[in-house]
Amino acid sequence: MDLNALDTYLSEHDLPSWRTDQVWEWLARGAGSFDEMSNLPAGLRAELAARLPISTLEVDASAKSVDGTEKALFLTGDRRPVEAVLMRYRDGRRSLCLSSQSGCPLTCTFCATGTMKFGRNLTESEILDQALHFRRIEPVNHAVFMGMGEPMMNLDNVLAVCERLPGIGIANSHTTISTVGWLPGIQRVITEGPAVRLALSLHAPNDELRSKIMPVNERYPIADVVGACREWRQVRKRKVFIEYLMLDGVNDSRELAHELADLLLPKNDFKVNLIPYNPSGNEYQGSSREAIERFRSTLMNRGIHATVRLTRGRDIDAACGQLAARAAA
Ligand code: SAH
Repeated sequence: MDLNALDTYLSEHDLPSWRTDQVWEWLARGAGSFDEMSNLPAGLRAELAARLPISTLEVDASAKSVDGTEKALFLTGDRRPVEAVLMRYRDGRRSLCLSSQSGCPLTCTFCATGTMKFGRNLTESEILDQALHFRRIEPVNHAVFMGMGEPMMNLDNVLAVCERLPGIGIANSHTTISTVGWLPGIQRVITEGPAVRLALSLHAPNDELRSKIMPVNERYPIADVVGACREWRQVRKRKVFIEYLMLDGVNDSRELAHELADLLLPKNDFKVNLIPYNPSGNEYQGSSREAIERFRSTLMNRGIHATVRLTRGRDIDAACGQLAARAAA
């Protein structure tokens, strides 16, 4: 819901601004209509229902995977595609994958979102409404900004959303901002904003290779970005997740695993997450299971903690980097 529009309506009608807090509390607990908001006067409920859509996003399509993952494709008021995913895990975790932009201006060569046209930054409400959509289905407790877009390029809105998420049941310690290494954003969040987690999409341990697959590396090279992550670790006292996509024959050799270890050592500021690649109709192939395991054990033998990410929602194109590209094509 556009909470700013609600604020405006209230002040124009000389109504108390705390009504917004009441509405928010209902939304955060999964309300899907003004009707349910029983501590609002009936007249006001009817008035608001006539004027304010319950969501800034319209659901265009949704899909459910055999593994319980659920994806929604939304359209903004100006018909921009936005996707979000709910992942259900056996241990009870309910994790949302949220988009911060429609499309993405960065052109990482392996990423489906990178190949679609950049639309625009999403507003605070458009990001929150992705979460509220799933909250109406069931309680949720984790969120990652790993959908479409680069969250650090839309930081004001992303941070405003992070401040709201605990109300929905998602603590800041269970919220992760994932970035290509957008340096000014990382530096800002080190000292400002809520105590969320940070993930860096590294994908290569040296500048030559990384610039080839992630052009943004020309702007913010590895040494600076990893330096900022170490500072994060020092100030925030939280390890930084390193995301490393496993691309067959590109970045998955034993030598590169050693180079990655050299980069991340000596201090143990990081946790590495190896990501099996979801083919997106480009020249890349995912690494074999053996190659991923070899890479992982090389890192572990060097004293670097590394896990392999569980892939979810493959059958519904809900896997990382695949969001909305098809709809926008
Ligand atoms: N722009 C941010 C957040 C969005 S991408 C970032 O890059 O971190 C979320 C993660 O999905 C990134 O690590 C990205 O590199 C990864 N990703 C992109 N395409 C993928 C694919 N086809 N398969 C697996 N992961 C992919």
